[in-house]
Amino acid sequence: MPHDYPTMLKELRLKVTPKRLAILDFLARTGTYVSPEEVRHNLQEHFGSIGLPTVYRNLDELASGGIVSKIIHPNRQLYYYFCPNPNHHHHFICISCRKVRDLQICAVKGLEDEINSQVRGRVISHILQVNGLCGTCNEREMSAPDVL
Ligand SMILES: [Zn+2]
Ligand SMILES: [Zn+2]
Ligand SMILES: [Zn+2]
Repeated sequence: MPHDYPTMLKELRLKVTPKRLAILDFLARTGTYVSPEEVRHNLQEHFGSIGLPTVYRNLDELASGGIVSKIIHPNRQLYYYFCPNPNHHHHFICISCRKVRDLQICAVKGLEDEINSQVRGRVISHILQVNGLCGTCNEREMSAPDVL
């Protein structure tokens, strides 16, 4: 395993279970965002038959701990992505090849004061996901625009 998942889970106060470890390992090894169906397919190789609700529950628990990110694709399918980067950042997702890049910039932070005064309240957190085509997919589409 490329990461110390048991320690990661314990730090998030999540119970260490074989299913959670298998999910994290699968997500980390694929390195892209994956659908709950794909996670289920992989889990079944190790644990036998598993219902989709069980998969969703485990993924959502990992997501609420922050160790896994939810990705909403423009096709409206929900995906999950493992990112070991604990710092505040956002993701650029390629909608074609599923590559994910960490963006080390946060435009929202600079807007917080303005938002606070607009809503007469206080920003506590935010979610920002940037969708697009990675360099490779963009080039491919430029040379053959009807591939996508
Ligand atoms: Zn791409
Ligand atoms: Zn990330
Ligand atoms: Zn941000």
